[in-house]
Amino acid sequence: HAKRSGRGRVVVYTREMEEAAKRVTRIEQALRRAVAAGDVAPHFQPIVDLNSRRTIGFEALARWTDRDLGFVSPAVFIPIAEERGIIGPLSQLVLRKAAEAARSWPKEMFLSFNLSPSQLVDQNTGLHILSILERTGFDPRRLEIEITETGLMTDPASAEKIVEDLRRVGIRVSLDDFGTGQSSLGRLREFRFDKLKIDRAFVASILEDRPSEHIIRAILAMCEGLGMDVVAEGIEMEAQAERLTQFGCAGGQGYLFGRPADAAATLGYLREAHRGGSFARAV
Ligand code: C2E
Ligand code: MG
Ligand code: MG
Ligand code: MG
Repeated sequence: HAKRSGRGRVVVYTREMEEAAKRVTRIEQALRRAVAAGDVAPHFQPIVDLNSRRTIGFEALARWTDRDLGFVSPAVFIPIAEERGIIGPLSQLVLRKAAEAARSWPKEMFLSFNLSPSQLVDQNTGLHILSILERTGFDPRRLEIEITETGLMTDPASAEKIVEDLRRVGIRVSLDDFGTGQSSLGRLREFRFDKLKIDRAFVASILEDRPSEHIIRAILAMCEGLGMDVVAEGIEMEAQAERLTQFGCAGGQGYLFGRPADAAATLGYLREAHRGGSFARAV
């Protein structure tokens, strides 16, 4: 009868909201403990040059498995970390571990790291990143920061200052998930990005519908004109990779080339790929 009366609906709705709020609080508390204990770690997903299919870098993606909650997706815990003020320490932990791991990779491989919107309004973000790079001895010119359009909207002036400080030491800046959310081409005039990542929604439909194909080609032309590198996200099928390569897309990322893997597996993969080369001897 809850469905029949307006009041009943309100009660059911409230109970669901209460359950959801409880779950968020449980995740928040467990996440605080995990960050304090150093139990959140980066996995690494290869980014390839589409023509040669060679790996040119890796994106660090936060991974967390709680004893009671099990595996929790970053799509769930990152927004909670942001809302509850845990994103700063979480991000520093993951970047430190990522930089430590990436130090053992071949020197030409870059490390890409995601920044959340709230980190782009916090003027300490830049200092924290620079101090982690200094302490781990990781070359800032090998680091890329991924930000989204949403991240630039809250306080564009603050975001720009943080981004410019990072760029000054050679860190490169990517615009992530391009084409979804609050896209504004005006943003591309105001901000200088080194790289643009085409959201996987376009890649997913590139073989099926003409609009996606046209949009991707337009994005590629725009990137070329603006002097930006480009990476297509979420490539799962060979046919998608071929089509993107035909269109002149230089960079790719997705399950076709590799799923995110932990630091040890990533190092093993790199050693295998460079077997007999200078890398295998050096490490
Ligand atoms: P993102 O930065 O756009 O990262 C790409 C996401 O797409 C990752 O999901 C990756 O595992 C997934 N992916 C890669 N290739 C494929 C594919 O071929 N098919 C499909 N279906 N998915 C693919 P993940 O790891 O679950 O991360 C989700 C989001 O959480 C990330 O999206 C990013 O926004 C955020 N995130 C992850 N780690 C961090 C972090 O350390 N800090 C911050 N601030 N955000 C993070
Ligand atoms: Mg990303
Ligand atoms: Mg992305
Ligand atoms: Mg995304």
